[in-house]
Amino acid sequence: MTSTFDAARQIHNETDRFVTFHRCSACDRVLSIPEFIERHCEECKGYTKPVAVKERVS
Ligand SMILES: [Zn+2]
Repeated sequence: MTSTFDAARQIHNETDRFVTFHRCSACDRVLSIPEFIERHCEECKGYTKPVAVKERVS
């Protein structure tokens, strides 16, 4: 049971925050929300397979 509390405390003490965004797998451009939903890259003018990227924000 204590391990659960330890894990919770670690998360609480974690000061780094992460944002998740999506990149086009072809051109590496960051996709907008509509582009991500529609799987459509404006740069490639077609279907894209979005790649989820996590980035630390301070
Ligand atoms: Zn693209």
